Amino acid sequence: MRVLIIGSGGREHALARAIAASPLLSKLYVAPGNPGTAACAENVPLRGSDIAGLVAFAVEQKIGLVIPGPEAPLVAGIADALAAVGIACCGPGAAAAQLEGSKEFTKEIADAAGIPTAAWASFTHAGEAHEYIEAVGAPIVIKADGLAAGKGVVVAATPEEAHEAVTAIMEDMVHGAAGAKVVIEQCLVGEEISVFALCDGLDALYLGVAADHKRVGEGDTGPNTGGMGAISPPPWAPPAVIEETMARVIRPALAEMVKRGMPFRGFLFAGLMVEHDGPKLIEFNVRFGDPECETLLPLLDSDLLPALAAAAGGRLKNVALRWKDGASATVVMCAKGYPGAYATGGEIYGLEEAGALPGVNVFHAGTMADQGGILANGGRVLAVNAVGADLEQAVARAYAAVDTIEWDDGFCRRDIGRRAIFAAAFAKG
Ligand code: AMP
Repeated sequence: MRVLIIGSGGREHALARAIAASPLLSKLYVAPGNPGTAACAENVPLRGSDIAGLVAFAVEQKIGLVIPGPEAPLVAGIADALAAVGIACCGPGAAAAQLEGSKEFTKEIADAAGIPTAAWASFTHAGEAHEYIEAVGAPIVIKADGLAAGKGVVVAATPEEAHEAVTAIMEDMVHGAAGAKVVIEQCLVGEEISVFALCDGLDALYLGVAADHKRVGEGDTGPNTGGMGAISPPPWAPPAVIEETMARVIRPALAEMVKRGMPFRGFLFAGLMVEHDGPKLIEFNVRFGDPECETLLPLLDSDLLPALAAAAGGRLKNVALRWKDGASATVVMCAKGYPGAYATGGEIYGLEEAGALPGVNVFHAGTMADQGGILANGGRVLAVNAVGADLEQAVARAYAAVDTIEWDDGFCRRDIGRRAIFAAAFAKG
């Protein structure tokens, strides 16, 4: 099978490495890829926004399966464009991608399917949103309806903060058209988890559970980022929570999407709050997470490619995946200044030594190759993963690898997995 992966981050490097190991693979391309993917696939200089160019390339190269990494090409309709030329895609069409593209759409699906989620209302007039806040009080959550680069959500502790968020999103339009509508919802309280499933329209195959670390600072402080690290499994996601998520969230959502004539295929990412009475849906994403993908795939003990092809082809029913025992942790190394302004071009040393340590996988995210060396070329630059017998070992191994990498302009959080390790020890007694 000839395969094309779209994207250039750590997630795509992890996907490329897993797929490159498949005996079913005859040729692997990544567009545009990074120096990490160049080591296990052929990079193609096409951007994810160039839908026409990607489809033309897939036709020309007789690609059998396209795997989009990020959401943007999916929301832009790449799966539909590929379907029109008879090429399979492990990702939803534009209609089903609204599960990530519109918060209101997701809330409507959740209500129609009986999925547990926070009570909500949506508004297109700022005045009505302000009145609603006055009526229900705080804490309360204000969300821009559309895609806002992960920055469209304000968890407001007071009514004043909530009013300010409505003014910023709807009146000052800080997220542009994404804020023409807001969703206002009840504030959930508990521990967050991310559950991943591979879907073929009707059936869903569980891919794992992770906890991410979104804030830039240790102790979950400072601004939000694309993700500073992830661990799996979080101790607050026991098997019963996973079973409930598959039965009450993932499968009902798939059935509702079929009912609406927009079956969901590809990676479904459910962000959930585990409350005292079970998991509640916070959001869906229509792609694998980054760095959750780099965290979960190293635990996979089966060939990934046939499962992805089966999902794209609606044939997932008889597919099963084997997973290794143990745990996995990923520490993201970033350029100093991220998520604000940062410099690029600093040289990075020690990647091979780090990658040779026990259990370690070093994934490139924002790097570029230069005369045999590797330079930083982004905000999130490396995703340093390790698997181990338990979380404590996985985290220790990941930091041992981080400490082997020399990069003067880089930094990472030093507390990835700390809360989870503490919670696991606490649960054991
Ligand atoms: P979202 O973009 O919907 O994932 O929201 C971003 C973050 O805001 C989530 O990861 C949660 O930490 C938080 N959040 C969103 N909705 C809620 C809610 N209803 N209650 C509490 N926290 C929330």
